[in-house]
Amino acid sequence: MSHVGIIGGGIIGLCSAYYLHKAGHKVTLFEQASIANGCSFGNAGMIVPSHIVPLAQPGMIAKGLQWMLKSTSPFYVKPRLDADLMRWGWLFYKHSTPAHVERSIPVLRDLSFLSKRLYQDLATHDGLSFGWQERGLFMLYKTAAAEKEMAEEAEIANHAGVEAQILNGKQVQEMEPHVRVTVQGAVYYPGDAHLNPNELMGALVTYLRQEGVAILENHPVTGFGTSGSRVTTIHARGSFDVDEVVIAGGAWSPGIAQQLGLQLPLQGGKGYSFMLPGTTNAIQIPAIMLEARATATPIGTDLRFAGTLEVAGTDLRVNMNRVRGIADAINQYYPDIPVAMPVADSVWRGLRPCSPDGLPYLGRAARYDNVVLATGHGMMGVSLGPVTGKLVSELIDNSRQSMDTTAFQPDRFA
Ligand SMILES: Cc1cc2nc3c(=O)[nH]c(=O)nc-3n(C[C@H](O)[C@H](O)[C@H](O)COP(=O)(O)OP(=O)(O)OC[C@H]3O[C@@H](n4cnc5c(N)ncnc54)[C@H](O)[C@@H]3O)c2cc1C
Repeated sequence: MSHVGIIGGGIIGLCSAYYLHKAGHKVTLFEQASIANGCSFGNAGMIVPSHIVPLAQPGMIAKGLQWMLKSTSPFYVKPRLDADLMRWGWLFYKHSTPAHVERSIPVLRDLSFLSKRLYQDLATHDGLSFGWQERGLFMLYKTAAAEKEMAEEAEIANHAGVEAQILNGKQVQEMEPHVRVTVQGAVYYPGDAHLNPNELMGALVTYLRQEGVAILENHPVTGFGTSGSRVTTIHARGSFDVDEVVIAGGAWSPGIAQQLGLQLPLQGGKGYSFMLPGTTNAIQIPAIMLEARATATPIGTDLRFAGTLEVAGTDLRVNMNRVRGIADAINQYYPDIPVAMPVADSVWRGLRPCSPDGLPYLGRAARYDNVVLATGHGMMGVSLGPVTGKLVSELIDNSRQSMDTTAFQPDRFA
């Protein structure tokens, strides 16, 4: 049994703690603020095996440049003279190729399929309650251009073994009997699911604490002690001796890795969400409103709307223009939903940890014998939480991996 120190109390840190504890390790998890601090709380809660095409894809740079001209648009890169941002942008550009997409599809698919199976186990076997629902996902569109884009994606998905159905507006309406939907059509992914991220995080924390896992909130990790190629100590309001270290610090991971001399190209992709309470049964099936890149998720008796991706480092300020972009989009797809511009205090924001090639970092750092990196899941961290936790535990045990993790090597850009 090893003593494993996990840095970061988001979904990746908690899932790593879960599987490491199950495998018999002593676990101490360090969180710099409260568990609700990171990106894993107010997100859209969609479990998306449908998302097999990485963000770095042909055409994305051109699309991003168009979006950047409008203050309410769903994508923005704040221009900064910042060497890390420039390197990240260059790597993103280099990976926006058909060959990279082709290589990434099977690995993202396999990660997602396994993660969904693990969620099904979590929801049934361990009696964790987190609003698990398997109702699929709509990619809703209103324009011919989006229809064409989605038809291509549906073909790619079906070819890769991820079921996708192309529906017209009438068929979409039949599947959403309680709310008017004004769209040209949708691609429906029946294999997607959704959950309540706040309940999921709460349930994991309660379970882990009951099991004796130490979850230390307000313990920012500020440094490490090393001996040769091993990290021996984590400094976080005191010194903790450890056998293994897992860096799961989300958008803050580059700064943590830097303390060990490791370079990790990663940018925070800021997004926002807000709730519309008391709209029970209005929307049954989670949806991405494609042209607006905004999402709608039924969460308990409420609806959550989310969207935007601002490449922002670790800047957490709320830009209400972008929030307006989300709020304004909703009635274009669901004209009768009583949505209004939210007040700033009610808007949640989170930083997606975005790697430049759209694949997570998951593996041992080459320079150390006992450091595992688990971050960079971008728009899919909730979806990929359980599989990441399981693979982290297998890496630390040096046991047979549930799947090949070569594509996720943390040193791949060195
Ligand atoms: C608007 C929006 C919608 C989204 N919707 C979805 C979705 O529908 N489905 C999906 O799969 N994903 C979604 N995501 C993405 C998902 O939320 C993230 O990928 C995921 O939460 C990342 O988890 P994480 O554990 O890596 O990071 P985080 O949740 O950010 O956790 C990292 C933690 O590390 C802590 N930390 C940082 N530095 C230190 C330090 N030095 N010491 C100790 N602790 C430290 C931070 O405080 C933080 O709590 C969405 C994201 C956004 C913004």
